[in-house]
This record gives sequence, C-alpha cells and structure tokens, in this order.
Amino acid sequence: MTEPHSDSDSNAEPDLICSAKGCQQPAAYDLGWNNPKIHTPDRRKHWLACAEHRDSLSAFLSARGFLREVDEIAGSQREA
Ligand SMILES: [Zn+2]
Repeated sequence: MTEPHSDSDSNAEPDLICSAKGCQQPAAYDLGWNNPKIHTPDRRKHWLACAEHRDSLSAFLSARGFLREVDEIAGSQREA
C-alpha cells in the first residue's frame, strides 16, 4: 500500500478517516461541499466524518451555505 499525502483534497475515498481536527475515527459519512465563491458549481470538496462529528461538520458547512450532500459510507470495506 502506498500512502501519498494525508491532506489531498480530491480523493473521494482516501483513508476514510474523519476530517474533524484531531479525530482519528473511521469515517461513516462523506460530506460533499462546495464554496460557490471559489469553486465551480460542479466542484465537490469532501469531508469525511465519523458519526460523532457528522453533525458538527455538516452544521459548519451548512451554516456557510457550502453543504451539498451527505452520503453514508455504509461500512464498505472493499478490497481492491
Ligand atoms: Zn470524528
């Protein structure tokens, strides 16, 4: 396994670790967001969230009008 950078912004499913600061929990949700001031409308940034941080992270994004969708990562442990 090769691990590039931990802060890449374009991977849809990198390590599946919660994006909350200091949190190392496995992510259960994929928050798709977009900042209309700097992103084209079809651009998607992704934050991953564990169950504990889904609310705070999505609240943060929705408060700014960035939140587009929240997808559940249904315990998918796929082996490549
Ligand atoms: Zn978390």
